[in-house]
Amino acid sequence: MKYNPKVNEEIARLPGFTGLHPPQPEGLIQGALELMYGLEGYLSEISGMDAVTLQPSAGAHGELCALLMIAEYFREKGSPRKKVIIPDTAHGTNPASAHLAGFKVVTVKSGKEGVLTASAVKEVMDDEVAALMLTNPNTLGLFEEEIKTIAELVHGVGGLLYYDGANLNAIMGVVRPGDMGFDVLHINLHKTFAGPHGGGGPGSGPVGVKKFLKEFLPVPTIAKRNDSFSLNYDLPRSIGKLKAFYGNFSVLVRAYAYILSMGDSLKQASMDAVLSANYIKSKLEKEFDVPYSQTCMHEFVICGDRQKAKGASTLNMAKRLIDLGYHPPTVYFPLVVHEAMMIEPTETESKETLDAFIEAMFQINREIENDIEKVTSAPQHAPIGKVDEVAAARKPNFRWRP
Ligand SMILES: *Cc1c(COP(=O)(O)O)cnc(C)c1O
Repeated sequence: MKYNPKVNEEIARLPGFTGLHPPQPEGLIQGALELMYGLEGYLSEISGMDAVTLQPSAGAHGELCALLMIAEYFREKGSPRKKVIIPDTAHGTNPASAHLAGFKVVTVKSGKEGVLTASAVKEVMDDEVAALMLTNPNTLGLFEEEIKTIAELVHGVGGLLYYDGANLNAIMGVVRPGDMGFDVLHINLHKTFAGPHGGGGPGSGPVGVKKFLKEFLPVPTIAKRNDSFSLNYDLPRSIGKLKAFYGNFSVLVRAYAYILSMGDSLKQASMDAVLSANYIKSKLEKEFDVPYSQTCMHEFVICGDRQKAKGASTLNMAKRLIDLGYHPPTVYFPLVVHEAMMIEPTETESKETLDAFIEAMFQINREIENDIEKVTSAPQHAPIGKVDEVAAARKPNFRWRP
């Protein structure tokens, strides 16, 4: 998990920010508007887009925002479109958002190498396609190398290319989605720009667009005239309002502080995240199966079939990591890998911590051979031990103490 510098928390807690009230008159919130205007500018620059809205409160919310804009774009042209193409490696929110925005989801399989091939995209492409949603690098941590050709194919039928920016932490400052051919994107501030990412939020999923989609942005947008800032509701083709007030403001403050304090080092953060992931991968490969084993970006995925055959599932291994002092990685995702464990160290752990994590994984493998009960009964050292996951889902009991 990405480290959230304490200085961000201190800045977000300044009384000038926490004392704000949303219906305050514009004249009294100039500082907040300036910060939001500035953040929009930085995010546009980093992503290669022309305009940004900060309203969506999560990545999934950003997806919905963008898809509503895409639908409106085609309606406005007088030729509404039905389909959205999504690869089988995509996050589950992609098809859910497309469905919610009224589109029919068409799944496209990724190739043997774990990435999308232009030929597979060509097969499903026609003039009913509104958009293709792509995460790059994808959820296997692999860069979509055919992106330029794929962009040409989508644009060739008049469709739009959507960038799911959840993995921007791998490429920030190195390459920009706007330059790869993407027309619209969301960014997860809680994944890339040091917003807290625990306990379910609050998150923030700003959406960036190329110029031709600007008129569809949600209202209000933030306008600057001379040296003063205002909220602009005068956008006749806007998809409307997405959220009460203007977004999760305190998360925006943290992202702004993070970008300013990092400066040019944003690029270094991405490069270090990629280096850390490849370091762990090169060590773990000796004992764990990594089905897509080419050089990865900021994350890679282990397949736990071999350990499962011996009696310890990926879930068991994740729970055992809790006993050994680690926040377990994402498990059972992406869906294209059996018994998946997705390892994303980020840029912020020291080599000592990475080595200790690697050793913990090796220890679990040894326990599976010699003392499997330790793994299958974990966690033993957590305040709540092994729970019955099925009963918890089927017969939830919401009382604190039964
Ligand atoms: C996390 C994630 C999302 C959804 O973002 P939320 O902020 O959790 O709503 C979408 N796509 C990918 C690839 C993700 O990792």
